[in-house]
This record gives sequence, structure tokens and C-alpha cells, in this order.
Amino acid sequence: MDSEGRLTGAEALVRWLHPRRGLVAPARFIPLAEETGLILPLGRWVLETACSQLALWAQRPQTARLTLAVNVSAREFRHPRFVAEVGAVLEMSGADPHRLKLELTESLLLEDIGDTIAKMTALKALGVGFSLDDFGTGYSSLSYLKRLPLDQLKIDQSFVRDVLTDPNDAAIARTIVALAQSLGLAVIAEGVETEGQRAFLFESGCRAFQGYLFGRPGPVEGLWQCC
Ligand code: MN
Repeated sequence: MDSEGRLTGAEALVRWLHPRRGLVAPARFIPLAEETGLILPLGRWVLETACSQLALWAQRPQTARLTLAVNVSAREFRHPRFVAEVGAVLEMSGADPHRLKLELTESLLLEDIGDTIAKMTALKALGVGFSLDDFGTGYSSLSYLKRLPLDQLKIDQSFVRDVLTDPNDAAIARTIVALAQSLGLAVIAEGVETEGQRAFLFESGCRAFQGYLFGRPGPVEGLWQCC
């Protein structure tokens, strides 16, 4: 949501509805998928589904400007064909690359900085945007931050949660906003659950928010209930 309470986009989250176990949490199956390599077909399916959704949204003026963020795991990003695959999915779906945002984590970026910069630059040339997920929780390297073609920093929910009660978390959140602003990056806060948290972040200069205050994860049809 933007600071006026308008919906600007969504993040694609995957859930597994198992016939016997019921709803399996991503924390249970994503690490396993990464371990077994199944994250590659799973990631491809998520990307295809997200791009089809963007192509559908593009057909209606009310939804044409929405962005969709897709989380990318290290194993997917490191795959030699990652850039080609994203390009192929964009082409096949007809989605506007400028509406697609890939969320990368700090540890992923730093693993092989040369490869990271090459891949991000190639995707950026297609129009794809990048958000740095869980910012501040990993080994944030400020020198890499300026070398990477990022568009947005995402303030991790662990800082947002106690932003009103823990002065350290409040200072960290404010610092991330200031850092983003001075580097010319956008910033979004995740895990916003209360109006108080939203107001504090707004006062700190943050203009984009996501979290339970606006809506819970659910099927795409439910997106319209939050606004
Ligand atoms: Mn994310």
C-alpha cells in the first residue's frame, strides 16, 4: 500500500495444501525444496503464475499498474540459466517486465558478487526491478549496496514488530529509510500490523507498507477486500 492507503501491488507467497496434512507452512517445505533441487521447478511455476497474473492485470485499467514481487532463492538465482528463464517466462506470458519485482536476500547477493551484478544488470536491462528482502538481518554490506542495481530496500518485519516499544528497532528502521533515501532507493516496510507502526514508519519517511494491517496472505481474488 502507498501512504494514501492505495494498493500498489502484492507479493507472491506460496502455500501447500496437502490432501492429508492440510496446509503445510512454507518454512517446512521451502528448505526441503532447496535441499532436493525441487525449488527449481517450483520457482519456475511461481514465476509463470505471477507473470500470467500480471498479464491479466494489464488488461484492466484498475489493475494495470499493480506490481508483483516474487521471492527468489539462492539456488534459483545461481542457476546458469536463471536470466534466460526469467526472460522466457516474461516473453511467453506477455507480462510487462517493469511490473515484476524480484526479491533477493543479502546472503544470496554476497555469495558471488560478480555473478550477482552480471545477472541483475542483465535482468534490469529487460525492465525487471529488484527489492532487497529482509534488509538489515544479514551481513549488510554498504559497499555492495551501492554497486548493485537495486530499486528498493525492504525493512524486515523483525524491526517493524517492536518499532514502537524498542528504541533500537525504531533507530534501525529510521536508519534504513534514511539510507535508502540517500542512495536513491525506494523503501518498503513489511510486517506492518498496527496503525501505530504504520504512523511511525510514515513519520520516518517510509511511503510503502505491507502486512496484516492491510490484508493477510490469501488467494489473489481476495486482494480487493483489503482496499
Ligand atoms: Mn519477500
